[in-house]
Amino acid sequence: MPIVSNKNNLPRRLMGPRVLFLSAFVIAIVMVSLCATSLYQSRQDALERARETSRNVALIAERDIERNFELYALSLQSVVDGLGNPRVMALSPELRDQILFDRAASAKNLGSMLVLDAAGNVVIDAGNDIPRKGNFADRDYFKAQRDNLNAGLYVSAPFPSRLRNGSPSIALSRRVSHPDGSFAGIVLMAINLDYFHDLFGGLSLGPHGAISLIAGNGLMIMRQPYNPKTVGRDISRASTFRHFRSAPEGSFSDTASIDGVRRLYYFKNFPHLPLIIMVAEAEPDIYAAWRRRALTMGSLMGAFALGFIGLSFVLGTQLQRRLRAESELQLLARTDSLTGLHNRRTLGEILEREWRRAKRTRSVFSLLFVDIDRFKAYNDTYGHQAGDDTLAAVARCSGENIRRPADTAARYGGEEFIVVLPDTPPDGASVIAEKIRSAISELAIEHAGSEYGRVTASIGSASCAPEQHVDVTTVIKAADQALYNAKATGRNKVATCLAEITPVEPATDRKT
Ligand code: GH3
Ligand code: MG
Ligand code: MG
Repeated sequence: MPIVSNKNNLPRRLMGPRVLFLSAFVIAIVMVSLCATSLYQSRQDALERARETSRNVALIAERDIERNFELYALSLQSVVDGLGNPRVMALSPELRDQILFDRAASAKNLGSMLVLDAAGNVVIDAGNDIPRKGNFADRDYFKAQRDNLNAGLYVSAPFPSRLRNGSPSIALSRRVSHPDGSFAGIVLMAINLDYFHDLFGGLSLGPHGAISLIAGNGLMIMRQPYNPKTVGRDISRASTFRHFRSAPEGSFSDTASIDGVRRLYYFKNFPHLPLIIMVAEAEPDIYAAWRRRALTMGSLMGAFALGFIGLSFVLGTQLQRRLRAESELQLLARTDSLTGLHNRRTLGEILEREWRRAKRTRSVFSLLFVDIDRFKAYNDTYGHQAGDDTLAAVARCSGENIRRPADTAARYGGEEFIVVLPDTPPDGASVIAEKIRSAISELAIEHAGSEYGRVTASIGSASCAPEQHVDVTTVIKAADQALYNAKATGRNKVATCLAEITPVEPATDRKT
């Protein structure tokens, strides 16, 4: 067991690498958090951009549809007005049709423009002198106008046209009334769904985006990507539709009932028509670019943080090893290798320090001089190796019988040791000296050349309350003098010397 150690100092020095590693860890966490915050922010930006795009796309589609429907509504109104004008109705069919329908019937994507009588039969057919035969009393637009005086401009559900080979269409209709207000029939305009198909097809919404035009009652009029099966489908029970009806316009995220893809929906109810336009961008499309960037940045930042922590760990470990080695070297330089006690150099430092402290605090300073009795004879009888072992055993006795942290035992040279006892009065020092003396004697190491037959030591003790002009060597000399007295008066004893030293205050009991 090494008697000297700088254990108290070592952990404090080894804190350095730990602090380094901890700091690196905290810095890495801060860097990763900053990166995560910036990525989260750019994800929010991507979502906001998608919302803006959807709003713009919906606005373009809505304006186009509203403008066309307004023109169609005006055309229908002029037919209704013409039908109520006897002078127009008295004209030849060719002239009458020219006045009634103007050139509206030839507009692109317009299917048919018909006037039906109260029974639903075609009575006037724009573009055909002889009306095509057909009865449409079963259509929702006919029933709506017949049963409701104030149906106004009615937008029908999608239907396959009977006059145009089943071409998918919707109809805009207006009621024609007799002067007495009774039902006289309707005027209708069939719009080919190709119009919406072409309009939506020109809008780019990403690979999984969707745009839909929905009737106010929940019937799907057109959806892009186009699937004939979705046209006319009733989505009035879908959760998305409930959202559409909850506000004039808005946006929300939901999973589509049609294809199970999660989308950001933007919807708007037309202000003057029973129609809803809905633009939806798929979340995988919205976040595709962000995800690629996040993956690259995230993995780079992760690798950097790990590398940073790893590097600091390696540096910290190396620093720790180096500090430990330095500490051990320092310890070796301060220790006597044979006995494990402080060496002479360290003793000098300790004496200086403790003497200064004693002066500062005006405390009593004691010192023991320990010398093995008749050690030359021991060496001569038992050899140098046995002598070294005995020296180490005596050193242990000196080191183990001091208790206070400031107490120090050191090898002074040869078979002589010095024990420094700061803040210790003479009788306390004598008690410790006696303990050391008896501990050495109780080792019971055979020594034929000694008058006691065993290894013993004599101890000189000196105490002093330091004055500014007194040097520590004075105390050493006094202890040496006391040792001389112990030797002279029979050895294996403790002698105290107070001569030539400033008188000491009355002793206080030392706790041992
Ligand atoms: P006294 O009782 O008067 O002190 O007699 P002594 O023989 O102990 O004193 P002296 O000064 O004559 O002899 C000291 C001896 O201690 C000399 C040397 O043989 C021995 N010695 C000094 N240093 C060492 C050491 O490191 N190892 C060993 N084995 N012996 C040492
Ligand atoms: Mg000696
Ligand atoms: Mg001796």
